[in-house]
This record gives sequence, C-alpha cells and structure tokens, in this order.
Amino acid sequence: MSATIQSIEAVLVDIPTIRPHKLSMTTMGVQSMVIVRMKDSNGLEGLGEATTIGGLAYGAESPESVKLTIDTYFGPQLIGQSAENINTLRVMLNRSTRGNNLARSAIETALLDLQGKRLNRSVADLLGGAVHRHIPVLWTLASGDTAKDIEEARGLIETRRHCDFKLKIGSRRLMDDVRHVAAIKEAVGESASVRVDVNQAWDEATAAKGMAELQAAGIDLVEQPTPMKDYAALVRLSNKFHLPILADEAVADAKDMYALAAAGFSGAVAMKIAKAGGPMRALEQASVAQAAGIGLYGGTLLEGTIGSVASLHAWSTLETLHWGTEMFGPLLMKDDIVVKPLSFHDHGVDLPEGPGLGIELDEDKLTYYRRQA
Ligand SMILES: [Mg+2]
Repeated sequence: MSATIQSIEAVLVDIPTIRPHKLSMTTMGVQSMVIVRMKDSNGLEGLGEATTIGGLAYGAESPESVKLTIDTYFGPQLIGQSAENINTLRVMLNRSTRGNNLARSAIETALLDLQGKRLNRSVADLLGGAVHRHIPVLWTLASGDTAKDIEEARGLIETRRHCDFKLKIGSRRLMDDVRHVAAIKEAVGESASVRVDVNQAWDEATAAKGMAELQAAGIDLVEQPTPMKDYAALVRLSNKFHLPILADEAVADAKDMYALAAAGFSGAVAMKIAKAGGPMRALEQASVAQAAGIGLYGGTLLEGTIGSVASLHAWSTLETLHWGTEMFGPLLMKDDIVVKPLSFHDHGVDLPEGPGLGIELDEDKLTYYRRQA
C-alpha cells in the first residue's frame, strides 16, 4: 500500500496554564502550540507538535514562526512525496533548510506517527522498541512562593504523583533564591529529590557561589546555571563541584553534545525533541552523551500531549534515563486537545498503546482552542 503526502496543516492552539509558571526569562499564563496534521493518500493522518516557552522569550523560534516555516517551506516540499521513507525526507529537509528545529521536530513526529499508523506499529517500535513502558516524571514548582510550593510538593508526594521536584530560579537575588530552595528541600526532606533550573541567568562567579550554597542545602542537580554558549564556564563549574550540572540550552543536538563533552564537561544532558529537531535526532544526541559518560534526562519545552508522547516514545527506547524526565507539560495546562489524556501515576507516566503515537485528537476541543486568524 504505497502512500504519498497529500496535505499538511499547521494549527495554532492556545491553552491556559493551571497557574502562572515563573521562569528566569518570563512568566507563562498560556501555552501556545503548533499542531501539525499530515494526511496521506490512504486517508491516514500523522500528528506532530511544536511548542516553545513564552513566544520568543526562550529561543529563536516562536509558535507563529514555526507555522510560517511549515506552511511556506516544509509543506510545499513534502506534499506529493512518498511518505514511506522518513530518512529520505529528513535528508531533503536538511539540505533545503537550516535550523528551525522546532518546526523540524513537529514534521518528523508527524511522519513517524503516519508511518506507525500505516504499519500498525507504535513510534517506539519504529525506533527499535520500548525498553520501558512506565517513564519517571518530575514536577516543576514554579509559583515563586515558598509556602505555596511546599504545599504543592507535599500534596504530590502524598498522592504518589511525583517524588522529584525542579525549582525554577534565577530571576531573584541569589541568596533569596537559595533561601527559597533550601526551605523547600528541608520541608520535603529525604523523601524527594530537589533540583534547580537557572535557565542561564547567572554569570560564572554567581554560579560558583550559588552552586556552593545549593550543594550545602542538599540539592541534587543544577540545570544550565550559565549562558548557553559559554561552554568554558560550564566545563569549569562541572569540574569544581560534586553537585552535577544538567546542560540544557547549551546542547541542542548530537554535535553540541560532542563539543561540550570534548571540552571536558561531566554531568548530564536535558534532551528535547524540539531542540534536536525530532525524536530520531534526539536519540542521536543520546548516543553521543552515553559514549561520553554523560547522564540522560528527558526534557520538555512544556509541550502538550502530542509533543510529550512523541518524546516518551523516544525516551522509552533508552535503557537508562539517569535523571528521569520532565514530561509533565499536559498537567500544566487547564485542558487537552486529545480524546484520552495521559495517565500520570506512581511518579511517572504510561507510554500510550496503539499504532503511531497512540493519540487521538479531540476535534471539538481543537476547534475551541484553535487561534482565530
Ligand atoms: Mg531547562
């Protein structure tokens, strides 16, 4: 049954978040996603998602620019092509377009979903098969209010939804952040792992002081303390402290991972399908990290269910996720655009069953949350 790509639609969707989500560069009250709907000549549909944080606050692509890239560049190249050889299509797009990894990730996801539905196999099967079907997921405490964050953490520990927590810091004075983090760690004690994400907000000297304080407070991991391309600082800090560093914005793909590892970095990497340009490209990065002895962590750009599930299929194929994942994006949103939401329980989430991503769109919800032109 041969199949050609018939149509590609990129839909902007805005869903409010359950609470303000405070990061060093912005505070989010709504999440905007680009949902890709790719139809083939057999009438099957592949879904993909590209999402970022706070418009252009986080990176160079915005939801609006992702839609434009897909509508104007990727769509016309892909329509009419055979949908059956994903690698050929990836090579074609790599030759014609630089960067734009968020848009690329949504397209790669839709191609995998379509291929899986055609072959009646899951996306994880297409990637070699799932090693794990229940994937650990942490929660981010990002209200910015210490008492509220402690209450939220205690509730989640009690219901066994999460036992690992990440705190977004870096927008306040260093010692205010340190007191906030230390108070939360003290409140949850040994029952929970507490990590921080600085989102590049510190210079090296501030990071050195901050890491010394956080190490003393019993924090387990510090994510991207210094600016993204300041590799030398990240390497020096990783050599100076036994508190490990999680490289996030610094490393998008396999080549970045190689460069940072070759410079002497030790620690861990936050893989994101959006940064890398798709689930397959994120796994290429995982291979480089593993070869360099760098720990793996499944990261999110706060994607909704479609993007989170695409990531989960990729992470499920990895033997060891040293630091688990943060695929909680759907829980941060007030509503969902899929028929069956993900099942979060026992400190993790279940990998959906069924062909492709194993996700079905809720057309009414999509219509409701779709941005009006
Ligand atoms: Mg991060």
